[in-house]
Amino acid sequence: MVKLPEWRGKDVFRKYGLPTPKGQVVKSADEVEGAIRSGAVPLPCVVKAQVLAGGRGKGGAVRFANTVEEARAATTAILGLEFKGERVREVLLEEKLSIGRELYLALALDRTARQPILMTSSSGGVEIESVADDAIDRQPIHPFPGLVAYQRRRAARSLRLDGDLAKQLDRLLGSLWKAWEGEDAELVEINPLGVVGDRLVALDAKVIVEDDAAFRHPEYAEVRDDRTPLEEIAREEEIAFVQLDGTIGVIANGAGLTMATLDVLKELGGDPGVFLDLGGTDDPKKVAQAFLLMAKAKPRAVFLNIFGGVTRCDTVAKGLIEAREAIPEGERFPLVARIRGNREKEGVELLRGAGVTSVPDLRASAEAVIAAAGARR
Ligand code: GDP
Ligand code: MN
Repeated sequence: MVKLPEWRGKDVFRKYGLPTPKGQVVKSADEVEGAIRSGAVPLPCVVKAQVLAGGRGKGGAVRFANTVEEARAATTAILGLEFKGERVREVLLEEKLSIGRELYLALALDRTARQPILMTSSSGGVEIESVADDAIDRQPIHPFPGLVAYQRRRAARSLRLDGDLAKQLDRLLGSLWKAWEGEDAELVEINPLGVVGDRLVALDAKVIVEDDAAFRHPEYAEVRDDRTPLEEIAREEEIAFVQLDGTIGVIANGAGLTMATLDVLKELGGDPGVFLDLGGTDDPKKVAQAFLLMAKAKPRAVFLNIFGGVTRCDTVAKGLIEAREAIPEGERFPLVARIRGNREKEGVELLRGAGVTSVPDLRASAEAVIAAAGARR
C-alpha cells in the first residue's frame, strides 16, 4: 500500500486539475517565514501535521495562525508531536479558507463488488467511519466508461449542490476519475471537500496507490514506509516475503500452503513469524537467495514445507545446499524439512547428503520445528 501524505496527495490533485488551497510543505520552523513572505502561503493560514493517520483536526495536529510568529509557533509545536505513534517530520502550511459546508467525496475500490465505488456524503469533515450509513451515497462505477453523466448528477444531488456548484462538481468528478486511473489508485478521498463561497475546494487529500501498480510509480518509491528493510530487499529480488513478530521462519510454496503451514504451527502452539513463499520457482539460485534472506531475519528455527509441482523438490534441495554454504556462521538456523511431490526422492536424497532429514508427516514435522525453536506454549 502506497499511502501518500496530504501534501503529495494535493500535488496529485493539482496535476489533474482538482482545486486545492495555496500552500507549501516545510520541514522546520525556520522555513515558515520564507514560505509566508514569498507569498506561497497567504495569511491567515492553517498549519497541518503531515502524518498518515486521520483525525488530525480533533487531535490538535491542525492549527490556525494569523501571523508569521503564530505560524512559526504552531509549526514548532506540531513538529514536536508524536501523532498516533508517528513522529511528525513535515508540516503543510496553507491559506485558511472560510468554509461554508464540509462535504465528503471519495472513489474507493470495493473488493467485494470488484469495482470502484463513488462515495458521497453531505456530512463531511469528520471521519467517514463515524458517519451514519444512510448518510453516505454509494454508486458502483464501471471501470470502462468511468463516472458517467447520470452518476455525476446523482452525486451533486446527494451533496445538495446546484447551479454553478453542481457544474463545478461535475468537472471535479471528471478530474477525480482521471486521477483515479492515472495514479492507479485504490482510494482517492477528499474529506472535507469545502464549499468556500462560490467555489469547491479540496481541503484534505488522501490518495492510496494500488500496491500491484507501485512499479509503475517510481516517483513514490520513497513514500513507502510499511515495508521492513528485508521486505524491501525481497521485493527487489521478487521474493514474496513477510516479516511479522514470531520465532519460526516458514519457507513454503504457494500462498495456500504457506498460510496452511502458519495455521498448523499456530494450532500446535508454535509462533510463526517470518514467512516466505517460493511460488513456482524452478531456479536453485532463487531458492538460495530466499534462504539467505530468511537467515537475515534471524529466526530461531525454520520450517521448509514444500509441495513439489512446478517447483521441483530437487531444485529446492539444491538451492538450500547452495545457500547453507553462503550463510555466515552466526546466522545459521536449525531447519526442519518436509518436501513432498515432484522429484521427492531426489530432493530427499540431496537433503540427506547435506545432513537434513525430510519428515514426511505434517504434524510430526511441525512439532519438530516448534521444539527446535523452543517456543512451546
Ligand atoms: P483530518 O482531521 O486529519 O482529516 O484533517 P483535515 O485536513 O480534514 O482537517 C480537519 C478540519 O480542519 C477540517 O474538517 C476543517 O474543519 C478544518 N480545516 C482544514 N483546513 C481549513 C481551512 O482552510 N479553513 C478552515 N476554516 N478550516 C479548515
Ligand atoms: Mn480530513
